[in-house]
Amino acid sequence: MMDTKYGGYMGKVMKINLTTKEISDYPFSDRERELFIGGKIMAAKILSDNLTGKETAFSNENMLVVTTGPLTGTGAPSSSRFNISSLSPQTGLLASSNCGGSFGYFLKKAGYDALILQGKSEEHIHIVIKNDRVSFENADTLWGMRTGETQEHLPLRSGNIVIGPAGENLVKYACIVSQERVAGRAGLGAVMGWMNVKAVTVSGNKTVPVFNEVKNKKHNKKWYSDLRKHPMTGDVMPRLGTASLVSPMQMRGILATKNFNFGQYEEFEKVNGENLAEKHNIVNKGCLSCPIKCARTVEIDGKAVKGPELETLSLLGGGILNNNMERILRWNNELDELGMDTISAASTLAWAMEASEKGLWDNGLEFGETADITKLWEDIACRRGIGDELAEGTKRLSDKYGGKEFAMNSKGLELSAYEPRRAVGQGLGYAVSNRGGCHLNGGYLVVLEGLGLDINPQTSHGKADLTMLMQDLMEMLSATGQCLFTSFAMFPGPLLTKPNAFYTKAVNGMLPYMGGAVRMMNKFPMPLRFHLPVFPQTRGFEYVTGMKMGFGKYLRSGERGYTLERSINIRFGVDASADALPSRLTETPQVADDPRTVVPLEKMKTVYYRARGWDKNGLPVAGTLKKLKLGHITDIPERSPLKNLKLGDELHGKS
Ligand code: SF4
Repeated sequence: MMDTKYGGYMGKVMKINLTTKEISDYPFSDRERELFIGGKIMAAKILSDNLTGKETAFSNENMLVVTTGPLTGTGAPSSSRFNISSLSPQTGLLASSNCGGSFGYFLKKAGYDALILQGKSEEHIHIVIKNDRVSFENADTLWGMRTGETQEHLPLRSGNIVIGPAGENLVKYACIVSQERVAGRAGLGAVMGWMNVKAVTVSGNKTVPVFNEVKNKKHNKKWYSDLRKHPMTGDVMPRLGTASLVSPMQMRGILATKNFNFGQYEEFEKVNGENLAEKHNIVNKGCLSCPIKCARTVEIDGKAVKGPELETLSLLGGGILNNNMERILRWNNELDELGMDTISAASTLAWAMEASEKGLWDNGLEFGETADITKLWEDIACRRGIGDELAEGTKRLSDKYGGKEFAMNSKGLELSAYEPRRAVGQGLGYAVSNRGGCHLNGGYLVVLEGLGLDINPQTSHGKADLTMLMQDLMEMLSATGQCLFTSFAMFPGPLLTKPNAFYTKAVNGMLPYMGGAVRMMNKFPMPLRFHLPVFPQTRGFEYVTGMKMGFGKYLRSGERGYTLERSINIRFGVDASADALPSRLTETPQVADDPRTVVPLEKMKTVYYRARGWDKNGLPVAGTLKKLKLGHITDIPERSPLKNLKLGDELHGKS
């Protein structure tokens, strides 16, 4: 029986204690569903209720929480995404990573909204879930296998998550793979490896209930059609994938080149989306129920495999001065097979090349010399030779060898491929992002600063308020189980296709100076009880769940999630000093004679904290927590370490 009155949910959360093999239902009430929706916000709520601030990624109390969203499995476009959250071995903080494989869909078919793994199995295991039956199979024969081979040994007609050798060997940026899709960031594959879980497979025959089937079907039909007609989601993304952005990034000076020394790579045409589409792409692929189909398929040694995304192309191209597309295709496949995040792997390699160039670490690596790199990936995954050190990522390496000013991470997570000195709002996002240097969790402002809209990328005006708006919006998109790329369709097509039209120029010119208006919307979203015509997500949510959801409530729910994640990180030591960037980005102008080409981080942070209702040390004030119905997180007497938790006003002795 389902334990919820709402559609879109299966009403159950399964918890598995890996140490004792005990299986239980984890309580999650309808009130919690109303406030914490699903996906990464639901996971944050579960982790917030269980983590005290003393745990590490590799400790028995840590949890790996796999969550779905209420839209998953309901026919909404691009809604097969699922989320994995845990403490990150890279940052020591909360991490959430989103994946497009079919695991989330099958988890709901088995009757569960979420799966919690906690503890450590004594032996290597493969967990098999069929409806509500769970078995633990010995995984010694799978241990050591790559992710593709592992999946070939798993049952058909089920969803799965697996790790590769990198996860088994606790590489700090090991990822979790589901089919060809990857929960890439922040090292969650290492958490699964530490737990001795090689794979989880899930299947079932339940149906996801929908509150209003008829209206939902009709709504989705139009939604699919609108996405197919939009110039971004119906043309550019299907045609070129995320790699479509390499050329505009080059034009705008935001293509991270030679470990973020520069924003342009003179040989970018050899590694851009057009080259990938014309010479290498065999067929477009997509996640379940996605009309956009942004994924590429290429051929390696006669086998069709997943092609690289924009971040991989850029960071393994210009990032290390490599102009050889064939190598990137091979490395991308190799990294997926070994189970490693391509962004952190590429950035760590770029740091090591620069450290070698500067004489800090004699490791034999050199920018532009990339013929032998394929073997290096395996050395990292298996922790052999210098691979053992590279497996630790840029933060720990720069702690040891020096070179922090060019260790391109924030909170220990490597930045993605957007060079923020020519898109300063993206710089703010990287710094304040809950999971560290992530463009998406940071608010993806670069989409407004030249890669979609064209607002002034150098000004700090309005960027803090727009960052909060975008972060909260994407937080909710992710929580509902939908792909963030569907939000591209909220920008009216002509604003993207007619950059020189007077209305486009007017919007781009005015937007940075509308920070006050955006602030008001962020501060008082609730009067926006209506559905925006360009944002079908809210209406779709109502038809699926039966909960009321206007645009304002959507934003407020995202804000609640974002602030909850921040509050968890505060338990683990985060304050304003952690919201930082390497000094290369804040002190050294990208264009030597243009002092504007740095990220004015401190200035934007002050405005951002004010917009969020956080104090000057970056801690949410009591009034903000109360407004967001998060007041309880400072008041959990049974968890003693939290008694010492001080947030916002309380810390500074205010009321
Ligand atoms: S747009 Fe791309 S990443 Fe998003 S759901 Fe579709 S195929 Fe997956």
